[in-house]
Amino acid sequence: MRIGNGYDVHEFKEGRKLILGGVEIPYDKGLLGHSDADVLVHAIMDSMLGALALRDIGYQFSDTDNKYKDISSLLLLEKVNSMILKKGYRIENIDSIIACQSPKLKNYIDKMREKISNILEIEIDRVSVKATTTEGLGFVGKKEGIEAYSVCLLKEIGGNYD
Ligand SMILES: [Zn+2]
Repeated sequence: MRIGNGYDVHEFKEGRKLILGGVEIPYDKGLLGHSDADVLVHAIMDSMLGALALRDIGYQFSDTDNKYKDISSLLLLEKVNSMILKKGYRIENIDSIIACQSPKLKNYIDKMREKISNILEIEIDRVSVKATTTEGLGFVGKKEGIEAYSVCLLKEIGGNYD
């Protein structure tokens, strides 16, 4: 077994879509970033990469590379998953947290879990997504941005396909 953790933050910006866990959420602002700025998927990818000491998404997918501009983070998630499988591992489970003061995410959580587990080709009960506010404290509480945390456990299935 190998374990990894991931963390990410993006700032709110007017005129952007809000995409979390691959789901578009109706809101008057979105997150700023080179890709679609899906902070949850970014944290999840970093936890997967971290479990195999494969650095981080900034290293794997350069934000100066135009081919990643406005790209759906789910496509990057698919690439990270292939890297894991090639190393002979599969995901045992993921547990993640989105810290967001507003909007309320409760009604979108299961849709996010479905999108993520579909891309990773694992059962939905292996993907946990939780949402919390920060009780009005800090940059999240002031609605300046959203942060996300993830832990991922990988299991060796054998074979190195490099
Ligand atoms: Zn990010």
